[in-house]
Amino acid sequence: MEPIVIIGSGLAGYTLARELRKLDQTVPLVIITADDGRYYSKPLLSNALAQGKTADQLAGAFAPAMAEQLNAEVLVFSRVEEIDPVARSVRVAQRIIAYSKLVLALGADPVRPLLAGDATDSVLSVNDLMDYARFRERITGARRVTILGGGLIGCEFANDLSHAGHQVDIVHPALYPLDRLLPEAAAQDLQRGLAGVGVTWHLGHTATAVNRAVAGYAVTLDDGAVIATDAVLAAIGLRPRVTLAQAAGIRAARGIQVNRLLETSVADVYALGDCAEVAGHVLPYVMPLMAQARALAATLAGTPTEVVYPAMPVIVKTPACPVAVATVAGEATGSWQVACGEEGVCALYQDEGQGLLGFALTGKQAGQRQALAKRLPALLP
Ligand code: FAD
Repeated sequence: MEPIVIIGSGLAGYTLARELRKLDQTVPLVIITADDGRYYSKPLLSNALAQGKTADQLAGAFAPAMAEQLNAEVLVFSRVEEIDPVARSVRVAQRIIAYSKLVLALGADPVRPLLAGDATDSVLSVNDLMDYARFRERITGARRVTILGGGLIGCEFANDLSHAGHQVDIVHPALYPLDRLLPEAAAQDLQRGLAGVGVTWHLGHTATAVNRAVAGYAVTLDDGAVIATDAVLAAIGLRPRVTLAQAAGIRAARGIQVNRLLETSVADVYALGDCAEVAGHVLPYVMPLMAQARALAATLAGTPTEVVYPAMPVIVKTPACPVAVATVAGEATGSWQVACGEEGVCALYQDEGQGLLGFALTGKQAGQRQALAKRLPALLP
């Protein structure tokens, strides 16, 4: 019998393998990964610096231990170059590996900023454990760090770097941070919280160039201002990895498109995690991929099971101003009711009948996220 093949050993790939083994201990399983296959929890990467954690301290089991735990073959440093859905196989270098079912858990690539200058290759991004190791090494001794992007990951790193003693500048094109997730009052609270721990904001601007300077780098902004810095971190977004799938004729748009059974447009090929667009939703967070992994494991074990998404609030790990946000389900429209006070901001997105559709909470108000989440409609019922 050909194995189930999972491409990717991130949280999506390994969680699926774990869930599958709860239901079926014997089906042959192969996990192929371009990286070292070490288990780690990616969310830890953006709040580990202040705790002085090295990449090794954040990591869990090595690939051989994972292979044993999962009763699977784990092929490390093995990049899948081609999927052949007709022959039902994948190619890694010169090796052809046949599959009975194929799961794409390929993750997403950090978007590279378009920059001029002679130091663009020094711009860092942190999207996996190996990136974190490199980043930590590069900022050792760096007093000033400039972050391009004031979204979730940029804000988390800003908070962490500040607490670790660095002087942080953030360049963000919108007039307030996390503008895709938060209403203005909540975003401004986060902005104030981070400013309070020493972060300098450059809102309404983009970086146009990064050049080497006598000491460190010079980041030039679109208004001509120049930030002197010792390291530059780009956190301007993630793009689901779709090209491998597209080259095999598997349909993709923002992500690899799958239905609620996590089936792609090609028979016996599935996708989950950051690379997937599930019934129109691209949700690059841990809770959705856990729900996907449970459903897909059941399907692979013989019981076709659609993924169900409850409301899934996202916590922004910025202790300077904790934030919890639940995005609005589907096409529902409503309006924000915002209350601000000593305890932070409580912004409720409500429909005409006052039904709760989403929320954004900051400071102490973030503590009521679980109670509020219970009142939200499911994202995929
Ligand atoms: P990845 O972990 O990226 O795994 C992709 C895997 O695919 C890798 O093993 C890679 O080597 C492999 N691969 C890719 N292409 C190939 C190929 N061609 N051949 C072989 N292997 C291949 N989410 C939250 O919910 N809460 C948080 O607090 C949070 N914090 C975060 C902080 C940071 C800094 C980042 C970057 C993300 C954070 N997220 C958070 C998002 C969350 O971590 C991700 O949604 C999740 O880890 C994605 O897992 P994944 O397995 O889909 O992708």
